[in-house]
Amino acid sequence: MLTLLGETEAAAKAGAAVVMRIETALAKASLTRVDKRDPYKIYHRMRRAELQGLTPSFRWDDYLRAIGQPALDDVNVTEPEFYKQVEATLRGESLDDLRTYLRWHLVDSRAAYLSSAFVDEDFAFHRAYLRGVKEPSPRWKRCVGWVDRDLGEALGQVFVRKAFPPEVKASTVQMVQLVESAMGQRIRDLPWMGAATKEQALAKLQAMANKIGYPEKWRDYSAVDVRRRDFLGDVLRSVQFESRRQLGKIGKPVDRTEWGMTPPTVNAYYNPLMNDMNFPAGVLLPPLYDPRLDAAPSYGDTGSTIGHELTHGFDDEGRQFDAKGNLRDWWTPQDAAEFERRTACVADQYGRYTVVDDIKVNSKLTLGEDVADLGGTLLALQAWRAATAAQRLAPRDGLTPDQRFFVGFAQWACGDERPESKRLNAVTNPHSPLEYRVNGVVVNVPDFAAAFSCKQGQPMVKAPDEVCRVW
Ligand SMILES: [Zn+2]
Repeated sequence: MLTLLGETEAAAKAGAAVVMRIETALAKASLTRVDKRDPYKIYHRMRRAELQGLTPSFRWDDYLRAIGQPALDDVNVTEPEFYKQVEATLRGESLDDLRTYLRWHLVDSRAAYLSSAFVDEDFAFHRAYLRGVKEPSPRWKRCVGWVDRDLGEALGQVFVRKAFPPEVKASTVQMVQLVESAMGQRIRDLPWMGAATKEQALAKLQAMANKIGYPEKWRDYSAVDVRRRDFLGDVLRSVQFESRRQLGKIGKPVDRTEWGMTPPTVNAYYNPLMNDMNFPAGVLLPPLYDPRLDAAPSYGDTGSTIGHELTHGFDDEGRQFDAKGNLRDWWTPQDAAEFERRTACVADQYGRYTVVDDIKVNSKLTLGEDVADLGGTLLALQAWRAATAAQRLAPRDGLTPDQRFFVGFAQWACGDERPESKRLNAVTNPHSPLEYRVNGVVVNVPDFAAAFSCKQGQPMVKAPDEVCRVW
């Protein structure tokens, strides 16, 4: 990259060593991904003067004035140890080396929008070397991805109009309601939780908002100056627009209608700070959700996704936030201890799975997702049984209704991954590998063994006393 910026081979080599040295020092002073899942470890509220005291070499007054927040006095310094290292780096490194470091970060972050030589070099490291990808995705796919990222709610309006009919929204809303009432039932029936904690859990469930398909009001991008012949400029102006939009929230009431994903996104999320779950239109379309199919595969697939997001409100991280999204402990000590004992069962199970070669799942990193996967499928199963209680279900395509539920569930995770990507995900991705997101769940669901006539002692069947059950 530095050579492409015009440096000699020797200077670029020396520069790379500088970048690596500074980056390594900053990385060592950063919390691990597991630590960052603990909301208390990333909550350090400070006044501006305290932040300034932490990093005397950085002129916060100038910085805050430059970003249009000269009066800001109240900040959450997520990682104080990191800022101490920033100070040490600013003091210990020469101005030239700091420039090299920043120059590389600038080019690294913009390389994908520059000329082909930069694009190829960017691909060679981030995609080919780190992920084992053999060739870049076609240009049109990359372009659609960038438009979705930078102007997602403008693209989303067209997407929803063309691809997401109102009937699909209506049937999804109904599925969400049945999954929620399954959760209410499960909380009330939980044998291990006391009445006081149950009351709080039910209040949180009651307050949880569902957002389906697309936002009620669309983001206004009229402030973004899009120029047909200036791609990098378009990206930079979009970054600036988003930065201003985020900073503009300071001091204003929380906008609970806001979405953190765009409508075409094939994904979903639960936000503990909002206590809401969000299902973009893109995840509610074939091949994931097909309203022409019967309920069994739809509940197995989309029902499990809904249950997954709902369970995030009650996983090891989400359970620490209350109905309003505030970080507040609403658990009795006994119930919290029992919850931890039960999630340890899940962590032990997943920690034994091999990702690739000698690398195991880091189940402290994946715990929240693994708990959500298990809870999600149990909720979907219960909701599906409630939705079809009055119907006589018959086999279809050679599969019983229960088998169709589990096939639908497994199909959401169809995918393949190169070993390089598995290695990277093993240390960075809070989700377990796809095969364990299916097999790791069904070993804990006796209905699966019954549906496929699996016998005790077979690989997909756990002994009854080893089955993990949280919610
Ligand atoms: Zn999740």
